[in-house]
Amino acid sequence: MQRDVFTADHEAFRLVVREFVEREVVPLYAEWERAGELPRKFFRQLGALGVMGMAVPEEYGGAGDSDYRYNVVLQEEAARAQVTLGTLRTQLEVILPYFLGYSSEEQRRRWLPGLAAGELLTAIAMTEPDTGSDLAGMRTTAVRDGGDYVLNGAKTFITGGLLADLVIVVARTSTEESDRRAGLTLLVVEDGMPGFVKGRKLDKLGCKVQDTAELSFADVRVPAGNRLGEEGEAFRYLRHNLVQERMTIAVGSVTQARAALDATVAYVSARKVFGTTVGSFQNIKFELAAVAAEIEAAQALLDAAIRAHAGGRLDGVDAAKTKLFCTEMQGRVVDRCLQLFGGYGYITEFPIARLYADARVTRIYGGTSEVMKLIISKSLGL
Ligand SMILES: Cc1cc2nc3c(=O)[nH]c(=O)nc-3n(C[C@H](O)[C@H](O)[C@H](O)COP(=O)(O)OP(=O)(O)OC[C@H]3O[C@@H](n4cnc5c(N)ncnc54)[C@H](O)[C@@H]3O)c2cc1C
Repeated sequence: MQRDVFTADHEAFRLVVREFVEREVVPLYAEWERAGELPRKFFRQLGALGVMGMAVPEEYGGAGDSDYRYNVVLQEEAARAQVTLGTLRTQLEVILPYFLGYSSEEQRRRWLPGLAAGELLTAIAMTEPDTGSDLAGMRTTAVRDGGDYVLNGAKTFITGGLLADLVIVVARTSTEESDRRAGLTLLVVEDGMPGFVKGRKLDKLGCKVQDTAELSFADVRVPAGNRLGEEGEAFRYLRHNLVQERMTIAVGSVTQARAALDATVAYVSARKVFGTTVGSFQNIKFELAAVAAEIEAAQALLDAAIRAHAGGRLDGVDAAKTKLFCTEMQGRVVDRCLQLFGGYGYITEFPIARLYADARVTRIYGGTSEVMKLIISKSLGL
């Protein structure tokens, strides 16, 4: 269907990204997957291209254009080339908004130029070994001591945790039992601070190009000047920013489902069995027709959400509905597509195998499908 989300400026940006991905990403992607992380050079290149600082105000070295649709274009072009941009997506779409939204003037001067240049890499640490869905149950503590907070605790599943120069850590600054959401605070922990240990790189089913790590904090003294926003306000900040985090996952889901369909159409058109192409069987045509219709339905929902989000009108419930629908659709689509590759679909050198493995996590991170249903059901008064 004809889409009406993008302007001529977005389309011009698309061509720049397409060329960059083909030239700088595709030839090296398998190597990066084996290494289990994106190289620093990649972020610096994108910094030089202006991509890392798109949303950063001009006075701190960015372009000052916070139009969310540029991020959508970036993901669409990566998916088109059958790659995912892992920690880049997290840095631009999930973490940068915390620095832009809640930093002081001094912090902006200290961190934004490095973020815009692709010199400073980041992660956000919410999840703990004992609590993920129930964010308010986190136990990492930060106790004020003079001009510092003393941070103790452990985080897990942290995207980009090993590469990060700066980690936004959500910690408990108050043990007030009556409201578990009150008393959570954001602290920026810097690589090299004594007591901050980057632990294991977790071996994942998919998303091999992004590192996912365990982090621990033993009496880490974090200067109060590294607190993002107000003490005790982190839950409110998270609730606000999780809208965009869920959108970015939904965008990835639809773009990658489309990539799966394109790869499958190409494969079944070439593969011969019983003396004819796989794609000539009516069942295969019907499967792929149904898949195409599923993607189109998700795209229509997603585009409505993108427009609403770009206009500042998307709320948490609509973001939850969008993430739920798009990620569940992606799961169905990649599974049906992989089936049509036969045994080759199970072999990792075929992109469909990677798309299948990468897809599994979108129903889990950024809030599971069950958590999305909880949010939606509350809006129904249940
Ligand atoms: C690859 C990857 C990258 C990640 N990156 C980050 C990151 O950068 N930063 C970060 O902070 N976290 C990150 N996460 C963590 C992710 O957000 C959590 O794994 C997710 O929120 C689920 O939490 P959990 O794993 O503790 O599962 P649990 O909360 O233990 O859930 C277990 C099961 O119970 C279900 N469940 C939970 N509560 C309810 C309920 N009330 N009703 C019904 N069912 C329920 C869940 O849906 C799930 O099926 C990442 C995870 C992965 C796998």
